[in-house]
Amino acid sequence: MVTRVSRPSDIHFLPAHEIRKMLDSRDLSSAELARSTLARIAEVDEELNAVLKTIEDGALAMADEADMRLRGSGPEPGPLTGIPVLVKDNMSTAGTETTAASKILSGYVPPFDAEVVSRLKDAGAVIVGKGNLDEFAMGSSNEHSAFGHVNNPWDTSRVPGGSSGGAAAAVAAGECAAALGSDTGGSIRQPAALCGVVGMKPTYGLVSRYGLIAFASSLDQIGPITRDVRDCADVLNAIASHDSKDSTSVAAPFEDFGEKLSNDLDGMRLGVPQEYLVEGIEPGVRSAFEESLEVLRSLGATIEETSLPLTDQALAVYYIIAPSEASANLSRYDGVKYGSAADDGLNAAEFSQHTRGEMFGDEVKRRILIGTYALSAGYYDAYYKKAQQVRTLIRQEFTEAFTRFDALVTPTSPSIAFKTGARMNDPLQMYLADVCTIPVNIAGLPGISVPAGFSEEMPVGLQVIGPQFGDPTVLQVAHAYEQATDWHRTHPPI
Ligand code: GLN
Repeated sequence: MVTRVSRPSDIHFLPAHEIRKMLDSRDLSSAELARSTLARIAEVDEELNAVLKTIEDGALAMADEADMRLRGSGPEPGPLTGIPVLVKDNMSTAGTETTAASKILSGYVPPFDAEVVSRLKDAGAVIVGKGNLDEFAMGSSNEHSAFGHVNNPWDTSRVPGGSSGGAAAAVAAGECAAALGSDTGGSIRQPAALCGVVGMKPTYGLVSRYGLIAFASSLDQIGPITRDVRDCADVLNAIASHDSKDSTSVAAPFEDFGEKLSNDLDGMRLGVPQEYLVEGIEPGVRSAFEESLEVLRSLGATIEETSLPLTDQALAVYYIIAPSEASANLSRYDGVKYGSAADDGLNAAEFSQHTRGEMFGDEVKRRILIGTYALSAGYYDAYYKKAQQVRTLIRQEFTEAFTRFDALVTPTSPSIAFKTGARMNDPLQMYLADVCTIPVNIAGLPGISVPAGFSEEMPVGLQVIGPQFGDPTVLQVAHAYEQATDWHRTHPPI
């Protein structure tokens, strides 16, 4: 039986903004914190497998530098200066192996940092390691990692969600104060919900994808996984920027992601799309969601049912567009340019075939097959083109809803974390884990998941969805809800 414990005095479970106060008052140095974080990883990660590798020397050097900044030399310290952060292993780190949890990239050491990694370093964050994930971020449970599955810290017989399962489990288990994940169809929000932490996918384009190992480029977005909403806004402020190295990058039309955090919810119009509450939702998730609506109502929001009939089409659209883009993006892994290769093959074509056959996992191969089929001559119009047309309609349906509502609220996932192995032989069941999160990526919108209670002793998440560039509003709703509840202060007894 899992018990919920709250030990706010333990630094490993404090939100970054509270740790930051201790660094300021010199109750703690960043170097001490980095050492104790690395020790914490060594202590608990054998059981979780959330961290693929630690960056010990690098972290200690970054911590020393942060301490100097905190003591007044060098650039002005910011909210992340001295804070231990884990980066999902599909983001390039100069000099540190970056595998996307695939055998085909093992041994690949990027010569450059992803833009988000450079920005974290500029902010003074201490990058402690790389988070486990489903291979190339394809999955909802972290069981598709080539380097072993991740266990959920609330119940180690269950999955942490995916694909950023390592990042979410690590934040929940106190192995880092914050983490970066990537979200193509829910991979930040769903694991955040299943591990009881905060996770946000910002509006598409606000965070640079430069140096992110591409899965489906029109859907991929990097975002934070944190212990509370304040930290989430702080991390976004550090990593979001216009970047000319990413042609889809845009500058935020607002100053500060956290600019509305102190606002209350008086007069806020929230819509509850009924399509997110029907099929397959677990009763415990539904009742936790209904209780969250009561909390939001008590905070002054008006809540109204609404309908987004195209929600049902989103999963089908996603499983055409995402594999199509993946099949093109993954064509670069031929054994020549990056990482590992097969050691046989008579000619170039065979060499590449053997490499891909041996090194890609089953789920990645399934996506490449689906995508190649959907894009092939004769099927393109029926599948890919049709999916793009429905994508436009889904976007329009959201746009129309946001003329009536400031934000939409839904459960983040229809179920709590399932048992490891339970869905591995049933891809459709696995894909259904993302029904509530995928439409948000299809439309390029901001979405956040905040801890919203428990069902069967496992965490449940509340999702808040906003209009394009409505990121500060999404954070405002999530923050007001969080401050009225205690869920974010509970953590697993690991
Ligand atoms: N679970 C979804 C998939 O397998 C989404 C993954 C993601 O967001 N990276 O594609």
